[in-house]
Amino acid sequence: MIVMENVVKTYGQFQALTDISLSVGAGEKIVLCGPSGSGKSTLIRCINHLETYQRGRILVGGIQLGDDQKAIDAVRREVGMVFQQFNLFPHLTVLQNCTLAPMRVRGLARQEAEAVAKRLLDRVRVLDQAEKYPAQLSGGQQQRVAIARALCMGPRVMLFDEPTSALDPEMVKEVLDTMISLAEDGMTMICVTHEMGFARQVADRVVFMASGSIVEESPPAEFFKNPRHQRTRRFLGEILGGH
Ligand code: ADP
Repeated sequence: MIVMENVVKTYGQFQALTDISLSVGAGEKIVLCGPSGSGKSTLIRCINHLETYQRGRILVGGIQLGDDQKAIDAVRREVGMVFQQFNLFPHLTVLQNCTLAPMRVRGLARQEAEAVAKRLLDRVRVLDQAEKYPAQLSGGQQQRVAIARALCMGPRVMLFDEPTSALDPEMVKEVLDTMISLAEDGMTMICVTHEMGFARQVADRVVFMASGSIVEESPPAEFFKNPRHQRTRRFLGEILGGH
C-alpha cells in the first residue's frame, strides 16, 4: 500500500529524512516513535505530499508521488490524516466539517454526504454533537470528529500525527479506543504516537526513528523485549520510566 525507497528530505541544508525505506502492506498497522525532532512527522507528511522530498521514491497504492498534480490528488483521496491539533474548520458545524470535502472533492450530493457523515459520526460516538461548532466540543470529541471527517472520504490509509498528545489525560482513551476499532476493521494505519500500550495492542510493527533515519523496526513484543540498538533502549527507558 505504501512504499518509500531511499527517501531524502531536506529543509535548506538540514536533512530531516536521511535515507528512509519503508513498506507498509494493506491492512498493516505501524506505530512510528522516536525522540522529538527525529523526523516522524516529516515522514508521514511526505506520504500525502504535505511535504515534498528531494530524493528517492514514494508510492501509495501503486501511484508514484512526484510533481504530477493528478497523482498527488489521487493519493490524497486515498489517504486520510489526523493531526495533533485536530485542525477542524472552526466556522463550520461538526456535520459541515464532515460533508465539505466529500461534496467538493468527491462530488457527493448533500443528502448522500450527510448520510455518510452521520454514520461515521455515530461510529466515533459524536453524532449527538453534529450541529455544534468545534469550539463547543471537548478535545477528545474534536479529535473523534477529525477522525470521522477523514473517514468520510473513504480513505484506504490513515495517518495519525500524535493524535492524543494535545488531549487532557482523561480524553486519551476515548480517542485511542476509536483508533483501535479502526485498526480492528482492517484499516492500513501509520500512527506517530508515544502511547506504547496502543503500540503493544495494535501495531504489527513498531518503527523507531532517530536523527532522520529508521534505527530499527520489529513487532511490538520483540521491540519492547529486545530492542537491538542503544538509542532505542535509551528512548524506551525515558518514555517507559524504566518499566
Ligand atoms: P518529529 O515529528 O520526530 O518531532 P519533525 O519531522 O517534526 O520531527 O522534524 C524533524 C526535523 O526537521 C526537526 O529538526 C525539525 O526542526 C525540522 N523541521 C521540521 N519542519 C521544518 C520546516 N518546515 N523547516 C525547517 N525545519 C523543519
